[in-house]
Amino acid sequence: MKTHPPANTLQFGHTFTDHMLTIPWNLFTGWGPPKIGPYAPLALEPSSTVFHYAQTLFEGMKAYRDKEGKVSLFRPDMNMKRMNNSAKRIALPTFNGDALLECIKELVRLDKDWIPKEPGYSLYVRPTLIGTQTTIGVSPPADALLFVICCPVGPYYPKGFKPVALYGTTEYIRAAPGGTGAFKLGVNYAPGVVAQREAAKLGYVQNLWLHGPEHYLTEVGTMNMFVVFKQPDGGLELVTPPLDGMILPGVTRDSVLALARSHASHTQHIPNLPSNLTVSERPVTMAEVKAASTEGRLVELFGAGTAAVISPVDRIGYMGEDVLIPTGEDGMGPVSRPIWKELVGRQTGAIKSEWSVTV
Ligand code: PMP
Repeated sequence: MKTHPPANTLQFGHTFTDHMLTIPWNLFTGWGPPKIGPYAPLALEPSSTVFHYAQTLFEGMKAYRDKEGKVSLFRPDMNMKRMNNSAKRIALPTFNGDALLECIKELVRLDKDWIPKEPGYSLYVRPTLIGTQTTIGVSPPADALLFVICCPVGPYYPKGFKPVALYGTTEYIRAAPGGTGAFKLGVNYAPGVVAQREAAKLGYVQNLWLHGPEHYLTEVGTMNMFVVFKQPDGGLELVTPPLDGMILPGVTRDSVLALARSHASHTQHIPNLPSNLTVSERPVTMAEVKAASTEGRLVELFGAGTAAVISPVDRIGYMGEDVLIPTGEDGMGPVSRPIWKELVGRQTGAIKSEWSVTV
């Protein structure tokens, strides 16, 4: 058993728990028996297809502990579905999502003491599927390995929200129509590192992926994005780009939309969320964001994803100038603040929700 490092020294994705789950697959024999064993190196031949043709995909979800000590996963069925969709896209084997979820629950139960007791901490669960056929040649692999590892992680913003500056990347693209942007494949991430590094060199925290000559806003680093505009009647419009094949269908994105829509349609009241709210999935261009900023109609812009939940943005470096985005004293805005509170409440069990699945 490894010793648990003090919670306040945890860096996201650097510490792993005692155990891992592995499930082998073969074209002729199907899925083999799931095994939970010690977290340990994998033995793979250098000819394994994962090393050559990026036959790898992954998921990211969190297990939270509530005040009574009960541990739950947040909407894990969505991760199972997305993982199967990713597998289909690169001809890796699909699987029974409910069965994998049962194995993941067992792993989390075994390592749940790794979740630090302090508020805001959780266990990040990383299911991964790789092609392991030992053949040079591009084809659907006849062997694959599904494994799941876990990391104890702290709050993304331990000292309160800190809005980030984005660099509107026009030199590179993340996704294209007919490509792989809507799937959680390893191949989508390695090319983003250079764009991220160039944004950092220019003094920005993350890059904003733009698409096409219109410079449509698509995603923020490895998060989905939302923007809020003030409308002529004084109401607010919450906008996120549509799932057009270039956007990863984020679980957080879906949850933000579902909460905002249920509030807008009066199905559910979210405390402090403005009532005159419209929710749109539609394309947004940098020209629209820039004009709204200049005319005082830009209310807020934020990223949404499992790791940070909500990540407010205060400026976008775009074509040589900075587009400024308002943020409140706490770093957040009138839509992100109440939505974040409701989401985190549901994730951590403070607010009862059918999205929370006990392990
Ligand atoms: N977009 C990309 C490219 C991502 O990697 C992620 C993180 N999985 C997201 C969006 C957010 O997805 P989720 O809310 O499911 O974490």
